[in-house]
Amino acid sequence: MVQRVELPESLDGNTILVAGAAGFVPSYVSEFYLKLGARVIGLDNFITGSRSNIELLSKYDKFEFHECNIYESLPDFSKTKIDYIFSLASPASPIDFKEIPLEIMRVNSEGTRFLLELAKEKKARFLEASTSEVYGDPEIHPQREEYVGCVNPIGPRSCYDESKRFAEALTMSYHRRYGVDTRIIRIFNTYGPRMRPDDGRVIPNFINQAMAGDDITVYGDGSQTRSFCFVTDLVNAIHNVMFSKDHTPFNCGNPDEYTILDTAETIKKFLTSESKLAFKGLPEDDPKRRRPNIDKLQSVSDYEPLVSFEDGIKQTAEYFQSLSK
Ligand code: UDP
Repeated sequence: MVQRVELPESLDGNTILVAGAAGFVPSYVSEFYLKLGARVIGLDNFITGSRSNIELLSKYDKFEFHECNIYESLPDFSKTKIDYIFSLASPASPIDFKEIPLEIMRVNSEGTRFLLELAKEKKARFLEASTSEVYGDPEIHPQREEYVGCVNPIGPRSCYDESKRFAEALTMSYHRRYGVDTRIIRIFNTYGPRMRPDDGRVIPNFINQAMAGDDITVYGDGSQTRSFCFVTDLVNAIHNVMFSKDHTPFNCGNPDEYTILDTAETIKKFLTSESKLAFKGLPEDDPKRRRPNIDKLQSVSDYEPLVSFEDGIKQTAEYFQSLSK
């Protein structure tokens, strides 16, 4: 029988640890749980996260922050009660794969192991934020959780793909061997305010190019596809998985699929931009099609992406505009 998600009305009295709290998605996760009444402890080394996200979270009385490298050691939590741990610390943009591949591999191996050890010690529930990248350049479409993927172990994306596959294996091993109460999510392309404007990903690039009237850089012929999820919808999906009863992975995202060419045209239209398209080389191992099948999450919860692409793009553009003021 399917066990339905039971969402708590409040998390007052609970403590949540968010690894990577200064990052884009984790800053929203932290804020979400602060609003639900939890105490949130954030960890980050600022390798890609931003101090402004920590300033924003520090406005909440129940937020506490530690600057640390989680793959070296964790702060001393011996006297701290911890109920939930979110493993959200990995850099995730293709430009990071070029610049900091070893840091990515360390956070998803040693860093994740430290967090799992803490979950074991504290009897905390642990959620590993994995990625659609574990499917590599997928041969089946849309991607279901049972699909085991098609990953190039030595390609330029492998530092991320393979270390996240390892992090999933580690999570399942702690669950099987020690009974740690674990969850795994596979996050598909996500966008929204607080993204790094220079993180090299398609949505920030296209919005900033469209707003400046610069050429919009389409890699390859633009026929590759992605499915874009607005960040608040993603947080809702993450919350549903944390309060599900299932230890196996859940895809989290929005199944609306666009070619990259459509994405460029659509963003131009939403932002009434005169920019032209400029075609550039396709990066090596760039996945050709990506779209989550979210039946599994929807079979246990009421999860539904709510924010339209138009609304999401406009909110994100307003954010980037506010940065340049
Ligand atoms: N892309 C593009 N122009 C850009 C940035 C990205 O055409 O300026 C393409 C990229 O080649 C990929 C897709 O957009 O096919 C999504 O890239 P992104 O880096 O956002 O994330 P990915 O899904 O590849 O991790």
